[in-house]
Amino acid sequence: MSKILIIHTGGTIGMTRTADGYKPDGVYFKDAIFHMDSLKAETMPKWDFMEIDPLLDSSRMSVKEWNKIGKLVADNYENYDGFVILHGTDTMAYTASALSFMFKGLKKPVVLTGSQIPLCEVRSDGRDNLITSMLIAGEGKVKEVCIYFGSLLLRGNRATKYSATGMRAFESPNYPILASAGTSVQYNESAFLEQKDIPFEFLPFKDVPIGMIKIFPGFRFDLFETLLTEKLKGVVVETFGSGNIPDDKGVLVPILKKAKEKGVVFAVCSQCPQAKVDMDTYEAGSTLKKAGAISGKDMTSEAAVTKLYYLFSICDDVMQIKEAMEKDLRGELS
Ligand code: ASP
Repeated sequence: MSKILIIHTGGTIGMTRTADGYKPDGVYFKDAIFHMDSLKAETMPKWDFMEIDPLLDSSRMSVKEWNKIGKLVADNYENYDGFVILHGTDTMAYTASALSFMFKGLKKPVVLTGSQIPLCEVRSDGRDNLITSMLIAGEGKVKEVCIYFGSLLLRGNRATKYSATGMRAFESPNYPILASAGTSVQYNESAFLEQKDIPFEFLPFKDVPIGMIKIFPGFRFDLFETLLTEKLKGVVVETFGSGNIPDDKGVLVPILKKAKEKGVVFAVCSQCPQAKVDMDTYEAGSTLKKAGAISGKDMTSEAAVTKLYYLFSICDDVMQIKEAMEKDLRGELS
């Protein structure tokens, strides 16, 4: 009989109504799940429950909470066969990506889930999301950080929030799904992360100044000069298509040159969810490449941002960070 740990971090699943809208309610949620008969069924894994304090709407999560959640898993790693992390959908893909980098040599399932409708409401999707996540975590087949939501199991660092209204809130636009749950859970084992024979290690993040900019037609790079050259250590640039940026009339090149001298790392991602950055395809992508920006390939922006946090937390050498950004570390890029 397997045993799992449920970690409640907040999010819609455990919220109740207040005059200002839905808000995490730990007392309600704990009472609700401890009284849920299905969670005591023989077919369910045994489980323990923990929560972070305070419980948060995931839009308020930061590096501090990623570390807190990571530490809870790491401290309890030996005592459980798997972990279910209940989390808001807004930033679930960021937390899942962050955890995937923090956990080196992970050999157990870490499944993030939540819901679009709180458990306290009649039409809540939280019940299935919770129960199926628990079964997946207890079964132990998939040994990586993943998101189970709306019948799909996705690799955490490949997932992105796609819908704020549909029950399928997440997509994995550049990587196959890990499983789908119909009358039974159908695993897609060929997509599982290759297991490495290395010990489990928890590598928390430092609160490094990382930024992300989304390009739009007419983007004024000059307005961001101080930010790009003096404030940030790493920047994810969300460009058009395969890595193209607007014609900057010569403004961008000196900014990038200055930033490069200061050791700022620019990672280029695409605004298209389904994409693979290739700055050689168009002349409009060449400025970034010539200035030393690196390709985020088919990484989600969530993965690229958290990967920058991870690499700057474990390494000081900018060249090594740039090299590692383009390498597959946890299945985050192809
Ligand atoms: N704002 C909520 C959160 O991210 C949304 C959700 O959980 O679906 O915590």
